[in-house]
Amino acid sequence: MAKVLYVEDNPDNMQLAQRVITALSHQFLWAADGLSGVSMAEAEQPDLILLDINLPDIDGYEVARRLRAKKDHMYVPIIAITANALKGDAERALAAGCDVYMSKPVNIRELRAHVMGLLVDSKTAPVPGKG
Ligand code: MN
Repeated sequence: MAKVLYVEDNPDNMQLAQRVITALSHQFLWAADGLSGVSMAEAEQPDLILLDINLPDIDGYEVARRLRAKKDHMYVPIIAITANALKGDAERALAAGCDVYMSKPVNIRELRAHVMGLLVDSKTAPVPGKG
């Protein structure tokens, strides 16, 4: 069982992802804004982070940058999820340190595939400094 944190201010989107994550028998954590997301990631050390970009305080890009700046979170996989789907969003998300970019409305099969793939990678890939 892995621990998955979703930083998302919209309860409907949160519940959709919660169903996907718990159906895969993973633990689901929720933070409703960016600063809570950063501190919850720090406290809970999740194996995977789902990250909304449009948040009420700091945006998801800033959340990703802050997490990547912390030594303990350098390697946690991050899936950016945004409603914008503007040209350049994917590039911005990747530049901020996210591994995967998805646009809303979230496709459940796609989300499930990304979650499974990234959790397998994080369990099998050697993590520098965590030998
Ligand atoms: Mn949002």
